[in-house]
Amino acid sequence: MKNMLYIAGLLCLSAAHTFAQTKDPKDTEVWTPEPRVVTPGVNNSPPSDAIVLFDGANFSEWTTDSGESPKWALADEAMTVVKGAGDISTKRTFGDCQLHVEFRTPAVVKGEGQGRGNSGVFLQSRYEVQVLDNYQNRTYSNGQAGSIYKQTIPLVNACRPPDEWQTYDIFYTAPRFNADGIRTAPARVTVVHNGVLIQNGVEIQGTTEYIGMPKNLPHGKAPIRLQDHGDAVSYRNIWVREL
Ligand code: MG
Repeated sequence: MKNMLYIAGLLCLSAAHTFAQTKDPKDTEVWTPEPRVVTPGVNNSPPSDAIVLFDGANFSEWTTDSGESPKWALADEAMTVVKGAGDISTKRTFGDCQLHVEFRTPAVVKGEGQGRGNSGVFLQSRYEVQVLDNYQNRTYSNGQAGSIYKQTIPLVNACRPPDEWQTYDIFYTAPRFNADGIRTAPARVTVVHNGVLIQNGVEIQGTTEYIGMPKNLPHGKAPIRLQDHGDAVSYRNIWVREL
């Protein structure tokens, strides 16, 4: 009992001491490090520290799997999937990042479900944020626009109609692997679709497979990849900030 009183007394003294330390508001001000200055963009234009991956001018930041310049169509400051031309990837590789992508599903509406305006943004070439025309077009919920494909259903359907430009703002934390190749932390992602939060810091379970379970083979930085799913989806104004 005596001991307990002694400890309680010490705790009171310690609390009083802490209080005394924080009486001056300056005691809890932190001045270093100072965040560096970034000039924000206007109307979705890139901030000053972004890497511009596509501004409509050319494919200089992109390549095909065989190392050639993409055969996608280039017009009106946009690039458009040409069926059969294949996926395209950034020449640079990325890990944690903030990614801005604008896309437009085709004006001519054809097909249904997964067959309408299908493309995709693959983070680290492995994890697909689905691009699909789900404006008045139903498909399986974990495969609709803004889903982490076959894994996580978007919180809402924020699709604009076909032929209108849409935005994805993606905030991505890459998975971590230890020296033995074991995943020690999953990837996490937040997605804002046309200004609406649709994925809120969700865990990515592994590769986004069409058939079968997610896989988790170790990897480092990797390209951002855009999918040729046979539909003439267009992209413009793509930029990324490494985190
Ligand atoms: Mg897709």
